[in-house]
Amino acid sequence: MVFGVPLLFVLSSDTTVYESGVLGDSMKITTRGTGDPEVAVVGAVHGDEPCGARAIERLLASDLKFERPTKFVVVNEEALERGVRFVDVDLNQVLPGDPNADEHERRLAAQLVQEVEGCFALGIHSTHSFNEPFGVLSNPTDRKRKVFRRMAVDQVVDTTGLSEGRCVDQPRFVDVEVGPQGTEKAVEQAEHCVRSFLATVGAIPGSARPTPTDYYEVTEIEEKQLGSEYEFLARNFSKVEAGETYARRDGEELVADESFWPVLASAGGHDTILGYRAQLVGEL
Ligand SMILES: [Zn+2]
Repeated sequence: MVFGVPLLFVLSSDTTVYESGVLGDSMKITTRGTGDPEVAVVGAVHGDEPCGARAIERLLASDLKFERPTKFVVVNEEALERGVRFVDVDLNQVLPGDPNADEHERRLAAQLVQEVEGCFALGIHSTHSFNEPFGVLSNPTDRKRKVFRRMAVDQVVDTTGLSEGRCVDQPRFVDVEVGPQGTEKAVEQAEHCVRSFLATVGAIPGSARPTPTDYYEVTEIEEKQLGSEYEFLARNFSKVEAGETYARRDGEELVADESFWPVLASAGGHDTILGYRAQLVGEL
């Protein structure tokens, strides 16, 4: 699979910047450190979540010393520029993609998979549902757990089996969610998380001691009823007891039949999903 010859800029002995891919489908890649990248940071999988790309920009402008070769990827530059989640399809539903597909994001997905091959990767997302960073993983491995135990997040959500084609379904890929989406606070959180991730995997100097991290497993997707108006009354990562009213649909109370912890739940964050129901498993 050939994506065309990248235009390469070598900025210093340890920095290269290039546009990977053919014209119109390119993504911005910056590598730091010497040798083949072993670590990747991925921003702008969704174009309406600019915090990842901004955090990458800020980080690269600082004079960090890289101890392991690291690749920074700004994936969907076109969607980012337009301020939309995606141009044709949601990139985070179509991995591993297809270089010959008609849709922009399917082609980008194939390119992204190729770019992060051989790397342990962190994707940066943002949400309206929660104002502190938390981790998202799927098909947990020792390494994924170890990284999140040391990273600056207090909660980690296991989304195994929830859907397919996401970055976190890749064997060496985890995500972090920051918020609120579209704010300066999200950018600051994203930068803090990336620094903490890079220190955790030994890409930059810094201490990365294990910290207490709550581990949740998503058990259910709560879909919205088409055309209905929602109010979300509970708080994410706070237990909803059986019998508690956690939301209103067109003014009608939605009462929990059994206890759960809401995750990524909000009235207006998503068109078709109110949020996820999770159970607190314990400490990661
Ligand atoms: Zn996202």
